Amino acid sequence: MTKEKILVIGASGQIGVELTMALREIYGNNNVVASDLREENPLLKGSGPYVSIDVMNKEMLHVQVIRQGITQIYLLAAILSATGEKNPGLAWHLNMQGLLNVLDIAREENIHKVYWPSSIAVFGPTSPKQNCPQQTIIEPTTVYGISKYAGEFWCNYYHMKYGVDVRSIRYPGLISYKSAPGGGTTDYAIEIFHDALEEKRYVSFLEENTYLPMMYMPDAIRATIELMEAPKERISVRTSYNVAGLSFSPKEIAAEIKKHIPDFEIIYQPDYRQEIAGSWPRSIDDAVARRDWGWKHEYDLAAITEDMLKNLPSVMK
Ligand code: NAD
Repeated sequence: MTKEKILVIGASGQIGVELTMALREIYGNNNVVASDLREENPLLKGSGPYVSIDVMNKEMLHVQVIRQGITQIYLLAAILSATGEKNPGLAWHLNMQGLLNVLDIAREENIHKVYWPSSIAVFGPTSPKQNCPQQTIIEPTTVYGISKYAGEFWCNYYHMKYGVDVRSIRYPGLISYKSAPGGGTTDYAIEIFHDALEEKRYVSFLEENTYLPMMYMPDAIRATIELMEAPKERISVRTSYNVAGLSFSPKEIAAEIKKHIPDFEIIYQPDYRQEIAGSWPRSIDDAVARRDWGWKHEYDLAAITEDMLKNLPSVMK
């Protein structure tokens, strides 16, 4: 087997930190190079190599890929849904150009595999709300969703035209305690735990019955690694795979937290993010990922709540 050397771009972010840790466990600390525009995340310090990379600077990225002998790239740098609506031009520019830079370098340097996440934000108001299938009407209304959908087709194009082995998952909202979320519409499901522990009170920016597809970070990391390790011939989708975890509303997660913190209260003050959330499906059908590479989520709402309330205090100090 060829020795793999992996570059994670956006390693200081919510997913990047945990994905880098998981990849270092599998491939060895020195074979996973963390990189970001931001400084190295304290959780990664000392565990392996770190380089400062701006994914928009193609030349600098190209030099690092050659210098480090990189064979696989995980591209996580992006501007997320809520932040994207505040600066649409920047979101489009980073989300598109960053991906094209990586795909071009992957093609030129014969990179073995590329990972790039898409999002349930590709779906829009005309997509089915329940069990939204892999292939359906897709008319996104946020700049983030538009950029992710265009990105999916660039991945497919580079695979078909140039044989780049690029793989992708449409992540739902990801819940985690190790690193802070990066400006998504589903961030409420993380903030609520912080505020429940600190103030026993949370002001929700989504209405009480807004159901969204969600997933606990350990499931998301496992999905990513299982997809990347699946044999090439099992991968039938070269745009991006639907993967499902669970779906719940602010009212339901608040009720689950109340089982642990009985005097916790939630107040609803929906803002511009309600409109974004309202445009997305409530639940996702992931039959194709299950069939192709055996995907199955593990964490339900009770397990997530228990784990978050148990582990969050140690990182909040
Ligand atoms: P994040 O914002 O927490 O992390 C992104 C990282 O990219 C940050 O550390 C940032 O400093 C870095 N970055 C930004 N611009 C850069 C540049 N020019 N060069 C190098 N690094 C740069 O985001 P995340 O939540 O970890 O998301 C990672 C990926 O997963 C993104 O593509 C996102 O769209 C996707 N995704 C996330 C979620 C979620 O719930 N977190 C859901 C669906 C899809």
